Amino acid sequence: MLDKTQTAAPVLILLGPPGAGKGTQARMLESQFGLVQLSTGDLLRAAVAAGTDAGQAAKAVMDAGGLVSDDMVIAILRDRLADNDCAKGVILGGFPRTFVQAEALDGLLAQSDQRINAAISLEVDDDAMVARISGRFTCACGEGYHDSFKPPAKAGVCDACGGNDFTRRADENAETVASRLEAYHAQTAPLIAYYANQNALQSVDAMGDIDAIAKELEAIVATTTA
Ligand code: AMP
Repeated sequence: MLDKTQTAAPVLILLGPPGAGKGTQARMLESQFGLVQLSTGDLLRAAVAAGTDAGQAAKAVMDAGGLVSDDMVIAILRDRLADNDCAKGVILGGFPRTFVQAEALDGLLAQSDQRINAAISLEVDDDAMVARISGRFTCACGEGYHDSFKPPAKAGVCDACGGNDFTRRADENAETVASRLEAYHAQTAPLIAYYANQNALQSVDAMGDIDAIAKELEAIVATTTA
């Protein structure tokens, strides 16, 4: 008998505190495996920029480094997952961040006979995260950089698109990062055990070289989506 879960589009989750490299690694996996990377942080920032009701409600919470309400985040993600491109399979970064979100995701996936192929925990030291985050900036094309760890080859010019439209996030300062780390440990880190119980958990030491970590993730994705 055909096991439907074997043919369903893959779903991967990257778990880890702010600064762990979820966005960088998700973008690398996206291009390598033809999956769509979804970040609820990106979706929320787009809602803030568009001035939608949801965006206006979320802005103050985001600026303070807290978690936006489960209802709002789940609604935003559910709408995005319904877009056609997500039928290829998705890599989720920054979602789920609470048990309520994890259970809502399980429910959504069950409706489309999908399952979580792997929830990959990026293991890092908190102490290093403030330095990592404080130097981050992003090009308008989506490519991420860091003043010390990943500067563009030519200063002021994006390696990926040749543009120079760089921005730094308002919540990427030492004070807000401390709140974001606190929220991670209180509400998100317990999901590691949740996915271990589902036999979906994979852990990767994410303190090393970006490319070496990417290789490990590639191997996990290749194995769990085969
Ligand atoms: P990120 O880009 O993932 O670091 O998210 C930036 C901010 O958006 C977080 O500090 C939260 O305020 C909010 N946010 C993003 N994703 C979620 C989520 N899944 N649940 C609650 N808040 C979120």
